[in-house]
Amino acid sequence: MSQSNPFKKKLSEQHLKIINSVESAVKTTGMSVYLVGGTVRDILLNRSPLDLDFLIEGSSDTQYFANLIGGTILQESQFGTFKIDFEGEIVDFAFSRQESYPTPGQLPIVEKGTFRQDLHRRDFTMNSIAIAVGEDGEFSTLIDPFDGENDIREKKIKILHDKSFQDDPTRILRLFRYSGRLGFTVEDSTKNILIRDLHMLDILSPDRLRNELQLILNEDTAHLSLKEYVNYDQKMYLFDGAKINVANLIKMDDEKVKSSKFSEKLKFAILALSTPIELLDGCISKFNFQSDWLDIIDSVFELQNVRKNLIEPGIRNSDLFALLNKINENVLKACLIIDGFSDVKDVILIYLNDLENLSIQLSGKDLIQLGVPEGPNIGKILNELHVAKLNGIIFSLDDEKDFVRKIFNKN
Ligand code: ATP
Ligand code: MG
Repeated sequence: MSQSNPFKKKLSEQHLKIINSVESAVKTTGMSVYLVGGTVRDILLNRSPLDLDFLIEGSSDTQYFANLIGGTILQESQFGTFKIDFEGEIVDFAFSRQESYPTPGQLPIVEKGTFRQDLHRRDFTMNSIAIAVGEDGEFSTLIDPFDGENDIREKKIKILHDKSFQDDPTRILRLFRYSGRLGFTVEDSTKNILIRDLHMLDILSPDRLRNELQLILNEDTAHLSLKEYVNYDQKMYLFDGAKINVANLIKMDDEKVKSSKFSEKLKFAILALSTPIELLDGCISKFNFQSDWLDIIDSVFELQNVRKNLIEPGIRNSDLFALLNKINENVLKACLIIDGFSDVKDVILIYLNDLENLSIQLSGKDLIQLGVPEGPNIGKILNELHVAKLNGIIFSLDDEKDFVRKIFNKN
């Protein structure tokens, strides 16, 4: 690899080492290797690429390739893409391929292809650029058939052909993800085609829709992507026509969200709370939400159910605990961040700060040692202790023991 290489500056030592190893491993094999996609885009943007995307021409044998470079295959797809653990770094590889889309919105038919054909099947001009790394000195050669470098310079997102979104409507959501992340605008002709084809979001499978939504929520700039989407899509195809409260989406940028350990879940809770509740049910099947994500939506319904009870005057802490303990914590935290929940903010704060983690010190075993006979009574007494502690009737371990003795003597 030439030393005066302009692209090398943005690559870490580790990435350069991997590129060099790959380059020398394939040298005599007749294969060609290119850096491609996000890696090249980020280098041209003067950003350090987060990961390496390699495109390989001249083979389709993943195991042979992995052995050649001395890495371990971690994951392989039916589309000729695979991830290799290479000296502790996970690197994306793909054999060059071509695609056709006999049915719009369905997964493509994938065949072996040249690396140039592979550049033609990509989403945007900025991602359809390659750098050859196969031979010494060639590392600085850009292969840029769609003038993506220019679009990167002009900060434009541009599709390669006018059927692009019809072939694969996930590109619509990829476009909004990139526009948020990179601060790029949509190129004029792409804009018209985007507006024309927004309805194609309706034909995507729930799993593909959910995956793209989650990728957006994983970004620090999810609020910008979603805001841009809402700006474009008057019909709100993504959310079954629901009018999303945009002012709330912006709150995804709140410090409390950014510093949260589960920030994508908190952002999802903000989104769910910003969706008219009558349309939220339809979203469950539209996106096939599961596990934690489903729990967040169910919690939005639950909050709606208990909202009146939460603000009853003189409500006891133990009742507050019983009502809020069923609700996903991300939903509660989201209520504190967005507008429209001022009626319940105070009780949520009491719950999160003072009640949620308030536990008793005595265990079932301790109760038996104190003389309580084994049986269902143990659970009942533990519960009464917890209620008493929540309501500020008992505080210390001694209080707990006295409380047990009192109940026990009563029985
Ligand atoms: P990131 O920085 O998020 O990883 P990326 O551009 O590397 O961005 P990936 O999702 O990792 O994006 O995909 C790698 C490359 O594969 C993209 O740059 C693009 O060229 C191509 N690609 C990914 N998804 C599609 C798609 N739906 N249609 C066409 N090309 C795609
Ligand atoms: Mg990538």
